[in-house]
Amino acid sequence: MKKIPFVTKEKIDEIKKTYPTPFHLYDEKGIRENAKAVKEAFAWNKGFCEYFAVKALPNPFIINIFKEYGFGLDCASKAELALAKALDFEPERIMFSSNDTPAEEYRYAAKIGAVINFDDITHLPFYEKEVGAFPETVSLRYNPGGVYEISNGIMDNPGDSKYGLTKAQLYEAVRILMSKGVKRFGIHSFLVSNTVTNEYYPALAKTLFSLAVKMQKELGCEIAFINLSGGVGVAYRPYQEPNDIRVIGEGVRKAFEEILVPAGMENVSLYTEMGRFMTGPYGALITTAIHEKHIYKEYIGVDACAVDLMRPAMYNAYHHITVLGKEDEILDHTYDVTGSLCENNDKFAIDRNLPKISMGDVLFIHDTGAHGYSMGYNYNGKLKSPELLLKEDGSVQLIRRGETVKDYYATFDFCDILDGLDEV
Ligand SMILES: *Cc1c(COP(=O)(O)O)cnc(C)c1O
Repeated sequence: MKKIPFVTKEKIDEIKKTYPTPFHLYDEKGIRENAKAVKEAFAWNKGFCEYFAVKALPNPFIINIFKEYGFGLDCASKAELALAKALDFEPERIMFSSNDTPAEEYRYAAKIGAVINFDDITHLPFYEKEVGAFPETVSLRYNPGGVYEISNGIMDNPGDSKYGLTKAQLYEAVRILMSKGVKRFGIHSFLVSNTVTNEYYPALAKTLFSLAVKMQKELGCEIAFINLSGGVGVAYRPYQEPNDIRVIGEGVRKAFEEILVPAGMENVSLYTEMGRFMTGPYGALITTAIHEKHIYKEYIGVDACAVDLMRPAMYNAYHHITVLGKEDEILDHTYDVTGSLCENNDKFAIDRNLPKISMGDVLFIHDTGAHGYSMGYNYNGKLKSPELLLKEDGSVQLIRRGETVKDYYATFDFCDILDGLDEV
């Protein structure tokens, strides 16, 4: 499938007059259409809620769009919880799915009434000691171990991942929590990241639904919700077929009707915590070619760098690139597209076939709407680029300004050593 940018060159030329590159651009229309599709795909479940994984795109303007659809937030730190609180999310719409959790973060989560999803059995006494009594509803994160397989093969290796409780621990945790007055339970599991298949959620649902039926029977506990968490992926590569959330929702519904309904558990609410799928394809990094270099290879240097998008440097992730205005030209040049960090892995693409790039050409780096801005860092004193929202009416709104040198040095504001810092 050809990957088509959600803006034209003409539109970018217009935006550039107000906001020079590099910048992150998000497509409100795409975000809304997808949010609506997610809501519809699971509308068959009365209690369904998508808890948007804040880490994917922690921008309050974007999060407020999701709020309109009745979604909640999945948070993993105090800062993310504070954002949920500041945006007035109902406490039961804030999920705290953390791991290796500091006491301070548990205390804050308890204070704002977030739903706590425990990652480990040893966290139960830790929580009691540091925070106090458990709330009436508690979620537990399950890790089945081993390898996780669906029909087209092994998907991932939960046995190697640091998350969750074993099955024996899960049972033990429920017994302990029931004895301490916990009334309702949630089961959460996140087994595979970035799945590009409509089979993952239905397969996970089957595993968790069967487990829930057994737990309710054997332990007499009330299972209030089952949280399929994240993992629904994005077709980053042109040959990949994107997930169809309607097919996924239908697959989960089938499992629900086969397993939970006959067990009298039709009131169980279904939760998801998608991040990547909610915003990934609806964001792009817009950057201009500023240098070309001909040594042992051909390089195009752009004005963005890994500070804006770390995924390629971090795990060799593929992000498709379209040279705007050259969509139909032959890809007869092979380039490494680089940023300016003093790190040889600061490359948005390696040996990529692209049309001939001239200085001043604008590159649209696809699918950077999730784990893009948020994963960025400040190496080399490089500043983070602004975030812009392309609204449904075609106007553009600045939703986060670019960092300034002053922002970068702001943590020295407790002393006068940088009083001579120029406003640059
Ligand atoms: C990262 C994460 C998510 C979101 O994952 P995506 O793959 O972005 O959908 C959801 N839940 C938890 C606990 C996570 O750590």
